[in-house]
Amino acid sequence: MLKDQDRIFTNLYGMHDRSLAGARKRGNWDGTAGFLAHGRDWIVDQVKASGLRGRGGAGFPTGLKWSFMPKVSDGRPAYLVINADESEPGTCKDREIMRHDPHTLVEGALIAGFAMGAVAGYIYIRGEYIREREALQAAIDEAYDAGLIGKNACGSGYNYDLYLVHGAGAYICGEETAMLESLEGKKGMPRMKPPFPAASGLYGCPTTVNNVESIAVVPTILRRGASWFAGFGRPNNTGTKLFGISGHVVNPCVVEEAMSIPLRELLDKHCGGVRGGWKNLKAVIPGGSSVPMLNAAQCDEAIMDFDWLREQRSGLGTAAVIVMDQSTDVIKAIWRLSKFYKHESCGQCTPCREGTGWMMRVMDRLVKGEAEIEEIDMLLSVTKQVEGHTICALGDAAAWPIQGLVRHFREEIEDRIKARKSGRMGAMAAE
Ligand code: NAD
Ligand code: SF4
Repeated sequence: MLKDQDRIFTNLYGMHDRSLAGARKRGNWDGTAGFLAHGRDWIVDQVKASGLRGRGGAGFPTGLKWSFMPKVSDGRPAYLVINADESEPGTCKDREIMRHDPHTLVEGALIAGFAMGAVAGYIYIRGEYIREREALQAAIDEAYDAGLIGKNACGSGYNYDLYLVHGAGAYICGEETAMLESLEGKKGMPRMKPPFPAASGLYGCPTTVNNVESIAVVPTILRRGASWFAGFGRPNNTGTKLFGISGHVVNPCVVEEAMSIPLRELLDKHCGGVRGGWKNLKAVIPGGSSVPMLNAAQCDEAIMDFDWLREQRSGLGTAAVIVMDQSTDVIKAIWRLSKFYKHESCGQCTPCREGTGWMMRVMDRLVKGEAEIEEIDMLLSVTKQVEGHTICALGDAAAWPIQGLVRHFREEIEDRIKARKSGRMGAMAAE
């Protein structure tokens, strides 16, 4: 288990002084000017050496992403955009950072912005995060007043403005290019990639979009050293990580742990275990609603990192661990997600616009047991026609949970259909 002294977000654990004075006591803003004095390349190299992979869900190497930004300006300004539009069902880890430790994010935004030659940073925060917005704005204001950001930030000669912008409740605005559109004042509709934002991002200028947690860990990586961070977890899956555990555990929580922690250890040590004991476990969605679930047998062995979960045809995603015990109607749980994705589809590409509706409608029939057995394979075929054929990842996100359901619980789906046909289900419902 991660030791207390190795936790980056110590304020999540009861200190709760989020002011600049409190942040300084915990070591934030210590030596920041010195990091900037080392220069852009040094910072990017440190982040690369730490092995940090994006904490927003996709796990793209952060240092590598930063290195795509132009070294020499072609006249266009460069921007950093911080994705705080945390909306993935089950996910509330970035909320904790912004609520309790906003200065880790503001300091990280300065360092990251400097490392990529940005003239300004934009934090795009989910509209529903009202208290978090207030906490973050207060931290930004304090940092301006103390000369830590703004003109001649930290006395470095570097000018850097940081803006806080809030969304209006659309999940799709968390997709990085939809976010850029929204920042430009347009409808939040994803753009085709390539070009990636580093080539053409905000207002057509070089831009990097990073998740809140990815940015907030950077100051500590520089202070404690890339090798310290790289010392946690398995190769290619390094660092500490926030896990948000919800569902059928005794004590749902957001906790910082070493990457690659076994799932069972994570749940037993921090959540009081599965409700009713480990044997009562039915399934776990390990990384937010966009990744396929694990069945109980997989959960016995599960290692919570990008590569292990990918090998199991699932994913770490946002590390939002949704625990379902034996009382769960898994078919209904996935139907609910299908409804969500249908509602949140922006509608600009046909496979997603039409496919999410089809998937939801067939899922609806499966929940009620009203479908034919053959429709299970038809549904799978629809997910395959959506997956990989859309402009953004929402199409995949809608398809994968259904694929996971059928992979692990086909028998339960079939039993429900058979029960309905034989009239048993009606009798059960009437009891
Ligand atoms: P992606 O794999 O397309 O991209 C990840 C990042 O790497 C992006 O910033 C992208 O620009 C960059 N990138 C990838 N290939 C590149 C290349 N060849 N050159 C330059 N840059 C490159 O994934 P995505 O669509 O950005 O994100 C999908 C993930 O988002 C899902 O895994 C899901 O878990 C997660 N998600 C998170 C939330 C949340 O609330 N945090 C919500 C929805 C989805
Ligand atoms: Fe919009 Fe869905 Fe296409 Fe993404 S995949 S661009 S959400 S229609």
